[in-house]
Amino acid sequence: MTDSFSNLSLAPTLARAVAEMGYESMTPIQAQAIPVVLTGQDVMGAAQTGTGKTAAFSLPLLQRLLKHENPSTSPARHPVRALVLLPTRELADQVAQQIKMYAKYTQLRSAVVFGGMDMKPQTLELKKGVEVLVATPGRLLDHIEAKNAVLNQVEYVVLDEADRMLDIGFLPDLQRILSYLPKQRTTLLFSATFSPEIKRLAGSYLQDPITIEVARPNETASTVEQRFYAAQDDDKRRVIRKVLDDRGIKQAFIFVNSKLGCGRLARSLEREGLRTAALHGDKSQDERLKALEAFKQGEVDLLVCTDVAARGLDIKDVPAVFNFDVPFNAEDYVHRIGRTGRAGASGLAVTLVSPSDTRLVGDIEKLIKKKLDVETLQLDTRPAGPAPEKWGTRAEDRPRGRAYEGRRRDDFDPRDALDAPRERRSGFRPAPVNRDPFFEKPYEAAATDTSPSWEASVPKTARSSISANIKPKRKVAALFKSGD
Ligand code: AMP
Repeated sequence: MTDSFSNLSLAPTLARAVAEMGYESMTPIQAQAIPVVLTGQDVMGAAQTGTGKTAAFSLPLLQRLLKHENPSTSPARHPVRALVLLPTRELADQVAQQIKMYAKYTQLRSAVVFGGMDMKPQTLELKKGVEVLVATPGRLLDHIEAKNAVLNQVEYVVLDEADRMLDIGFLPDLQRILSYLPKQRTTLLFSATFSPEIKRLAGSYLQDPITIEVARPNETASTVEQRFYAAQDDDKRRVIRKVLDDRGIKQAFIFVNSKLGCGRLARSLEREGLRTAALHGDKSQDERLKALEAFKQGEVDLLVCTDVAARGLDIKDVPAVFNFDVPFNAEDYVHRIGRTGRAGASGLAVTLVSPSDTRLVGDIEKLIKKKLDVETLQLDTRPAGPAPEKWGTRAEDRPRGRAYEGRRRDDFDPRDALDAPRERRSGFRPAPVNRDPFFEKPYEAAATDTSPSWEASVPKTARSSISANIKPKRKVAALFKSGD
């Protein structure tokens, strides 16, 4: 079998850990990326979380670091050799957990640092020495400034979810971090989409990268069925209910463009008797974890979320995603619908389009290079006169004035990002993402309705939830105020 891990000649310590994870064969991104990373070349990879991307970069990286393995207790013998940067603490934690598992039979050490946590335990770990450091950019800079992290022996740097790091304004932080690294190194950049900004970043920091795509841009068969339904704002919830009923769908993510709209929609759906939770950047870490856990446990059916808060959720088997608001950035559309139909399973993505969304839908069409038909879904006719109260269309349910549009750009707050970059603290807003004709779709396994064998073989423990590393924290807004 060509995609078996045994073809890779991994060190026995790594092969043993992989076997214990229950992986039977490599995922497409692994089959393509691992041999390239093993040669030490720079990589520009198009892939999303959920494709097996973490193992795709960390296994070959660990393999190449094995030459530095040593049992010494001296910190000097364990300098940072590999740096993995991610945009959010959840992702950083998820990736760090996986790396720990892959490295568990080696003597290589790994650690994770991200914001919103006490720096002291992180400092102690860094001072002991670690070969692989996983970090979010803001907190890493804090540690660099405090001289807890020295990066002059880094041989590998991984920029994971690079598009999102740029989206939420991490570019200046990234540039500073990269300036501390030796010029002679291998750089691996992963991104779900390749916007012009990403290509510029790659152009400045990667050397003759090998481009790896598991996406097939012009493939018509997709594991995600994409539907666009015309809907006035007042009808959107009815459309969602109808689709859920018609298709017998039990659980779904519903994306909105603003925190305000998120809370409001969750409350309305809850009033209509649907088990709903809201997830956005103003929720505390504890509330977010609870909402997520409730969704995973099936105690909640609908998770209403904003883009940034939803980033990095490794939830398997989300049958449907609704875009209650058409996203401002077409790239976000790609991210959102990538939450369903993961790793080859089938999924449904429904976007609700109101008349003012024509331009945004046009942007999505351009990005995914596909003509999109906006269909009309026949709703049960409502009696004339005031709408039934259960739909929450009473005047007092509606937000007033400007905010009612619910998708205004100025209603969007990039501080939804938990590890917001420093500029955000001074009111920085990211520039709107430009469209790019070079489009990469999220990972699609060979068109099939069933989960691929590699996915079925994952033991439950391998799909770890967010670890105990993440503790309840102060609200992000509070953090910014204090200049933390
Ligand atoms: P990632 O895209 O790296 O976040 O990985 C998503 C999930 O797929 C994780 O829970 C991994 O443990 C799992 N995974 C990664 N590689 C494989 C594989 N070859 N076979 C089965 N599961 C895998």
